[in-house]
Amino acid sequence: MATLRFQALKETLNRKPVEVEEKERRSELFGKNVFTESVMRQFLTKEAYQSVKEANATGKKIDRTIADHISTGMKEWAISKGATHYTHWFQPLTGTTAEKHDAFFETIGDGLAIEKFGGGQLVQQEPDASSFPHGGIRNTFEARGYTAWDPTSPAFIYGTTLCIPSVFVSYTGDALDFKTPLLRALQVIDQAATDVAKYFDKNVTKVQATLGWEQEYFLIDSALAASRPDIQLAGRTLLGHSPAKGQQLDDHYFGSIPPRVLSFMRELEKECMVLGVPVKTRHNEVAPNQFELAPIFEEANLAVDHNSLLMDIMQRVAERHNFVVLFHEKPFAGINGSGKHNNWSLSTDTGVNLLGPGSTPMKNLQFLTFFINTIKAVHDNEELLRATIASASNDHRLGANEAPPAIISTFIGSQLTEVLDELEKVTDGKLSPQEKTELKLNVVGKIPEILLDNTDRNRTSSFAFTGNKFEFRAVGSTANCAQPMTVLNTIVGKQLIEFKKEVDSLIKGKKMKKDDAIFNVLREYIKDSKNIRFEGDGYSQDWEKEAEKRGLSNNKNTPEALKAMVTEKNIALFADLNVMNKVEVEARYEIELEEYIMKIQIESRILGDIARNHVIPTSIRYQNILIKNVRGLKDIYGDDFRKYSKEQLEIVEEISAHIAKINSGITEMIEARKKANKMEEAEEKAFAYCNDVKPFFETIRYHCDKLELLIDDEIWPLTKYRELLFTR
Ligand code: ADP
Ligand code: MG
Repeated sequence: MATLRFQALKETLNRKPVEVEEKERRSELFGKNVFTESVMRQFLTKEAYQSVKEANATGKKIDRTIADHISTGMKEWAISKGATHYTHWFQPLTGTTAEKHDAFFETIGDGLAIEKFGGGQLVQQEPDASSFPHGGIRNTFEARGYTAWDPTSPAFIYGTTLCIPSVFVSYTGDALDFKTPLLRALQVIDQAATDVAKYFDKNVTKVQATLGWEQEYFLIDSALAASRPDIQLAGRTLLGHSPAKGQQLDDHYFGSIPPRVLSFMRELEKECMVLGVPVKTRHNEVAPNQFELAPIFEEANLAVDHNSLLMDIMQRVAERHNFVVLFHEKPFAGINGSGKHNNWSLSTDTGVNLLGPGSTPMKNLQFLTFFINTIKAVHDNEELLRATIASASNDHRLGANEAPPAIISTFIGSQLTEVLDELEKVTDGKLSPQEKTELKLNVVGKIPEILLDNTDRNRTSSFAFTGNKFEFRAVGSTANCAQPMTVLNTIVGKQLIEFKKEVDSLIKGKKMKKDDAIFNVLREYIKDSKNIRFEGDGYSQDWEKEAEKRGLSNNKNTPEALKAMVTEKNIALFADLNVMNKVEVEARYEIELEEYIMKIQIESRILGDIARNHVIPTSIRYQNILIKNVRGLKDIYGDDFRKYSKEQLEIVEEISAHIAKINSGITEMIEARKKANKMEEAEEKAFAYCNDVKPFFETIRYHCDKLELLIDDEIWPLTKYRELLFTR
């Protein structure tokens, strides 16, 4: 009997929901362990508090002596909450979060000790950078890296540790993390969008990018997960035949949440509340055992931190509930994968959502300005946007079941399409008073304030406008949102800078009125960016053909997609706006390629192991049972045995045929790996893994899955899809 599998099943079937107490209201729990403004007022001197606020609002540096005051206050607060340690909490390019805890405790001689946490320790730390991905930025003999406090994201206490959100840079000052370029990109969009927003309201002095992510994930019982080496090591199944019933009946989506899962969610949400992560929505997703969690949107940098923190908390809470969280974009073949929709908008310090239509023609012109500039930016940079969401795991999702294609396009709905069609007809040059009145009344004025309820939702678009925000749907569930957010804010920022220049030059050079100039520039943008707009079914074959005709990219795999990162145009884009210098971009490219290679290499090894050490021996065992049976029949029936053993012998032969294919497939796959491993250049190697190694996955899997259907269930060692997806 396949012991581990059946033990795991038994364990799973005996589980009860873990009790979760909810004594306090959510609103009372919210932000309890966060160094919020009101806490700061309580624990900081007036000067120190002002200085943090200023750093937040204007990016002004915090003075070292003030930092000493802040750290003292922070320490007092943390200790009062039971914290014993502090850490700079950062997001290296591994895709997870990193922390190295230090105790507040310090000896002062004479056998005495105190709690200490100075400004220096708050502001900067020096972790060894050599074990984090650096893409060649760091010399081997210069291992130093620095983490530095990011005062725009509040410190929080997790467990008994004070966590200080930080950036991570090399000795040379180059970014080694996700946060540094994001902060730079957010500065770009702030400046650019503020300048444009001033056309409409002089009082605007700051624009924030906002982000609301939706995190999809699978929950699998921990015992079942442990019974599958592929889930354990790769976070996804590399083989497994589809169950008779999957998601065909749509009976999981928005269904009642299973009790064990609900307990998990409740505890998770409690932890999120305490840490100030404003989670709001929870529900079953389309695939069995797939779920989603979404927060209320926040300022983009904070939202990114909160998503990273959430992913970490989820695993820990899941453990207490005997679950494993699968963030992988495609843990199971044949059913929906997981994404992380990035809902994005821009919001002014006067409280206006720049992508939300308004109540007056002027407000709507402002909306259209930001709306059309975003579309133009996406049009001009679609390939870069595609690159930013590329990963080995997201490759399985993009273009697959119920997932956006690898083609970037924007969906805006019929109402806004009509508006843009009208604006395209605006007169070249100065507008007549009649035309302006007409426009204001019948085009711009007709955009309803509440588009939200009127926008059609097109779930097949990779970058859809949804009433008062854009939703970047192609982002993968494992992604750090900082990547797409860095690129999106950079390209829209650049676009807005361009726009301002063009409008100003019409105002000054052609003596146009502001409105006329804006209409003129927008008209050209609408024409120029038409190709990126698509209202039809993004999952269809027709769209692939149409997109090709339009000259849109369709980079189906990561190595192909990543190339856009290092084109001359894109290196210049990042460098000109000081988001990333050439060294940083090239290092990231290298790191992404390496990660891709490693992921495919690891999966290839796992698949080889499972197929050779689990599937083939089990199949032979079953073959022997059949052969023994045939021998027995021969003993009893003599020459007549053929009549009774025909089927058995057919199965015996079928098994042999599959085994042969699996075995030769593995041998060839290993050869392909060896060849790839000899390659020096990461790019060439990544392509070799993609084109020469990965294709074996499918053939090997195919034959393993066929064997799963033939072999006696009692001895099949790998927990089946049916069991993974339907046991709770
Ligand atoms: P769905 O896409 O599932 O229909 P909603 O449209 O209600 O769900 O919202 C999805 C996410 O979009 C939520 O996390 C929400 O906070 C976020 N969101 C709403 N408004 C904005 C905005 N102005 N900027 C960024 N995110 C937003
Ligand atoms: Mg959504």
